[in-house]
Amino acid sequence: MDEILGQVLRSAVRERLDVLSELADRADASSLLSVARSELPRLTAGWRALLTAHEADEKGNCPECSGRRRPTKAPCSVWESAYEHLIAGALAPRPARHQRPAHALQPATPVP
Ligand SMILES: [Zn+2]
Repeated sequence: MDEILGQVLRSAVRERLDVLSELADRADASSLLSVARSELPRLTAGWRALLTAHEADEKGNCPECSGRRRPTKAPCSVWESAYEHLIAGALAPRPARHQRPAHALQPATPVP
């Protein structure tokens, strides 16, 4: 993927996330219900596809995150992020990533 296409892709995804956040913050109840019914299945399907790509291989490594010379043990940072956002973060609202202090963005365990 070239750099321009990558920027377009990232921008489109960020804009979509912004729209969904804005809807969650400001939409009326009936609009929220409609958005939830259409978007939640898409979001869960997206998480499932992403997590499937990051499932451990027969050696216990993530095939997506591992390089030729440097394997990455599963669960990788994608699974850790999924846990953080879907399980741990589900109980209490957290500030958006861009609003968290820089030290909070560091991984809990350093990658070897
Ligand atoms: Zn991975």
